[in-house]
Amino acid sequence: MIDFRSDTVTKPTPAMRAAMAKAEVGDDVYGDDPTVNRLQDMAADMFGFDSALFVSSGTQANLLALMAHCERGDEYLCGQQAHNYKFEGGGAAVLGSIQPQPLPNQMDGSILLSDIEAAIKPDDIHFARTRLLSLENTIGGKVLSQDYLAKAQTLAFNRGLKIHLDGARVANAAVAQGIAIADITQYFDSVSICLSKGLCAPIGSILLGDERLIAKAIRWRKMLGGGMRQAGIIAAAATLAITDQVERLADDHDNAKRLAMLLTQVDEIDVDVEQVQTNMVFAKLADNINPKRLADALFTKGILISASQQLRLVTHNDISKQDITTFVQQLKHAIVSVK
Ligand SMILES: *Cc1c(COP(=O)(O)O)cnc(C)c1O
Repeated sequence: MIDFRSDTVTKPTPAMRAAMAKAEVGDDVYGDDPTVNRLQDMAADMFGFDSALFVSSGTQANLLALMAHCERGDEYLCGQQAHNYKFEGGGAAVLGSIQPQPLPNQMDGSILLSDIEAAIKPDDIHFARTRLLSLENTIGGKVLSQDYLAKAQTLAFNRGLKIHLDGARVANAAVAQGIAIADITQYFDSVSICLSKGLCAPIGSILLGDERLIAKAIRWRKMLGGGMRQAGIIAAAATLAITDQVERLADDHDNAKRLAMLLTQVDEIDVDVEQVQTNMVFAKLADNINPKRLADALFTKGILISASQQLRLVTHNDISKQDITTFVQQLKHAIVSVK
């Protein structure tokens, strides 16, 4: 199958399978797993933090960060489209008694600094205590500029807020700009990074922060049932995600651009090539095409897409340049067949 639904569908590479088979392991709840410890040390060092914590998912990394920064009755500012507001089951509110204060995301994914300023609550018993600003990069496949991050950091610092990055796809943001991941993470007090998306690890995310934050996160992780035992088996693959998979993301970005360009030739698809910055292509399907029927038609040809009038097509390691051409050909046929 050629699967455009997400980069989360990537399978571990043969090198990852081999590393998993021979990983040295211990009990990570005791802090005894050498492969996990090596991964955490390497990640902290590479991304410029005191400490790192290997966790089961990006959702867990974000939740631990929110719960480590904020107390009950605190709030975090985030985008209306933020994953850690919209797509994580309200975890911060449910499990942390932390209130989200969502703010509009602009077309480029940023939140206006003036909106952030205006949303910071004064010290008054009527209000939740504004504690944290949470940004996301990439967001909807778009890269936040370095200049914007620097300004957001200054704002947060001046107003006594901590600043968190949901960097699920921060590696894509770095590669798209030709800079190091650390150049982006430098602006934040904590960062979550998914290793199980474009970076191809089967399982796992990294949370970065100072020692105090990570110590709190370890406590919450245990309470949430996220303490893992011989986690070195998956950390071995996650290590290769960081060392071997980052530069390769450039291919995914090239394929996404190519896909968008080819889609401009299809009358029933509306796509703006200029908006494609990383590994995601957003395209609108003409109203006379039923997305469910289109997805079903493509499925019979070995192609998976999410059925929606607003298509989100994601490129990744298991999609080749040739697959892009095949997809567009099959798409043209499928459109004719469902019209
Ligand atoms: C995927 C994603 C997450 C959550 O990661 P999971 O591993 O799926 O829990 C968080 N934030 C963003 C921006 C994501 O894309």
